[in-house]
Amino acid sequence: MRAPYVPDGEGVEIALVGLPYDFQSGRGSARMGPAQIREMSGLIRQLSYDLVAPFELCRVADVGNAVLNPMDPRKSIDLATDFVADLAGKGAAVVSAGGDHGVTYSAIKGLVGDRGPIGLVHFDAHPDTYDDPFGGYIHHGNTIRASIEAGLVDPARTISVGIHGTRFIATDRDWHRDHGLSLLTVDDVAALGVDGTVAEIRRVVGDGPTYISFDIDAMDTAYAVGTGAPEPGGLTMREALGILRGMHGLDIIGGDVMEVAPPFDPSGHTALCAANIMFEILCGTALAYARKRDER
Ligand code: MN
Ligand code: MN
Repeated sequence: MRAPYVPDGEGVEIALVGLPYDFQSGRGSARMGPAQIREMSGLIRQLSYDLVAPFELCRVADVGNAVLNPMDPRKSIDLATDFVADLAGKGAAVVSAGGDHGVTYSAIKGLVGDRGPIGLVHFDAHPDTYDDPFGGYIHHGNTIRASIEAGLVDPARTISVGIHGTRFIATDRDWHRDHGLSLLTVDDVAALGVDGTVAEIRRVVGDGPTYISFDIDAMDTAYAVGTGAPEPGGLTMREALGILRGMHGLDIIGGDVMEVAPPFDPSGHTALCAANIMFEILCGTALAYARKRDER
């Protein structure tokens, strides 16, 4: 987004960062996402469609990418957590580009520390509450469940939006129901419309601190085929951007966009959509950050 590069994060109010990590499964390669999202984000202008000016509201900087360990998933989760926690300790809100969805656990843990649990708005084709089939790892398929089980996220203030696509098992949404999370499928979003979807999100997360995690595969493959688990029949960009804009005014403490896989995105189209989603998350975060700062 042509923000200044401030690698030590000093004096930064909102840090834009890359978390370049993916677990070795599926089509993978989301570790290359931050580079292509950063490249395409250069096309974004200074003001949003609805005239939010995040770079005027807050000191926004590109803090670069976390240095992770591609050979060790557990170490990478810890390194990404420490990277975000360091920035949070300096007073910054953090908006990150993944990376696969497992890194959301790190981004939330680094931001929240022991000050949780927070609310969560989770855009995804998939519920990401699967059992761990790999043996004790936090990864892209269980990141939401792991964040709740760690006490970082309040299930009663969590809503997943845009769920669609084929499933591994018929019961893949039961964990949401059994643990008090809310869930809107793409059909629910279509029936409610953007305004109704926003109203339901606001009802669930309320006034408390809230994080936005956006798995790009929530989008229809027309917008996001460059991802590890593409799912036709998803959200449109107008729905996604409208819903994100409708969340302005909530206490958004940061967010992420994950799962852009550049080898399957040769035109940069998926990364362009991700960069615009990241910008909308930045706008919501900047409005909340500036409001709290100016009240102090
Ligand atoms: Mn997904
Ligand atoms: Mn996901």
